[in-house]
Amino acid sequence: MLVSPVVDAALAGVLGLMVGSFLNVVIYRLPKILERQWADDCADICGKQPEPAEPFNLVTPRSRCRQCGHPIRWYENIPVASYVALRGKCSNCGTAIGIRYPLVELATGALFAYSVWWGGFTPAGLAWCGFAAALVALALIDLDTMYLPDVITQPLLWAGLLVAALGWTALPLKSAIWGAVAGYMSLWLVSQGYKLLRGEEGMGNGDFKLFAALGAWFGWAALVPLILMASVIGAVIGITLKLRSGTRAIPFGPLLALAGLTGMVFGPAAILSVVGIK
Ligand SMILES: [Zn+2]
Repeated sequence: MLVSPVVDAALAGVLGLMVGSFLNVVIYRLPKILERQWADDCADICGKQPEPAEPFNLVTPRSRCRQCGHPIRWYENIPVASYVALRGKCSNCGTAIGIRYPLVELATGALFAYSVWWGGFTPAGLAWCGFAAALVALALIDLDTMYLPDVITQPLLWAGLLVAALGWTALPLKSAIWGAVAGYMSLWLVSQGYKLLRGEEGMGNGDFKLFAALGAWFGWAALVPLILMASVIGAVIGITLKLRSGTRAIPFGPLLALAGLTGMVFGPAAILSVVGIK
């Protein structure tokens, strides 16, 4: 605890708003950065020269309006506040800025505030902040691209194992390791079965890795409640979408991420009680 739980949570909330702003960049740019890398790798394999291109990473070039190219100045880039001040429009051309940007910032801010309010500015409190940030990014990247990048799922898994090994949370390391193994294997088996029966892929490798990561953070015993939560959330969203506008395949990653965040908010003990484990 730095000052008092309320002040600490407020500070963490502000930090979360800023991290959320960065996550918006990650969500938009990371899939494009990976696509470029793959294109370069392909060109390399075929012995072609990769197309020379402007540097494009998480920092360069500076953010611009996607409609008119107007560079976004620092005071137009303050989480949530700038969106409100600009009334959700580009200051140059008036094109609407997606409501998703401030929502991602607010959600990340709230999750950070909650983690620190509950766990304090301790290694555990901050580790759960990192967990939340990774899940927010994964959920939206999967929603946009139907893809869960290894560069996020793999470190998330390792972080879960490390947090348990360092004793930052109450989860025994053994439970975290078996959680990772069982998380991966269970969805892999389900997907192999689905492939045999239906002859098509029902899930991607990213889903196995994300579920393995959740197993590392919550332990093997939480896997069944987590998958139940993901399925219930999926059914509710699926029914709502179907009622509103035809069918659209829902990627599984955002549902797993939502289940993970729900697990974080209500605490691992609450997840286990879903299936009657104390
Ligand atoms: Zn513009």
